[in-house]
Amino acid sequence: MSQLPPDPVVALTPDPLTPDRDVTHSHFQAGDTVVVLKGVAGGELWGDAMRVVAPSWHLPTDEDGWRLRDATGGQQSYVTAHPRYLVHLSRRCPDCLIHLRAMEDALLPKYPGDDALIDCGWYTTTAVGQLVHVADVRAGR
Ligand SMILES: [Zn+2]
Repeated sequence: MSQLPPDPVVALTPDPLTPDRDVTHSHFQAGDTVVVLKGVAGGELWGDAMRVVAPSWHLPTDEDGWRLRDATGGQQSYVTAHPRYLVHLSRRCPDCLIHLRAMEDALLPKYPGDDALIDCGWYTTTAVGQLVHVADVRAGR
């Protein structure tokens, strides 16, 4: 995984796994470093690395979420995300590693040898700082 300067090419791509991912709220805790996967670049996944700050209600799903701080987020340094959007970076976590590998297996073959920064278009941020996966937008909230 790598972090690259923003300026991605948006290429809407189905997310095969995140919407059905089974991960509990308590899997994460304040202080953890996580990544929200956004797409593919140069043969690997990329995303936004963020720090878990505090529990926070995730409005789009009406479920417990986490408030995150994005050190490079500018105007939107803080967002609230659902636990299933998050993948641990801060420690070796078998559960998150399995999810990461599965995402790699599903997505990397779609962009073989492509050096462009591909944004798969999965996430948007609402005016009140709620990070929403496209699958949760379709749920009608
Ligand atoms: Zn984890």
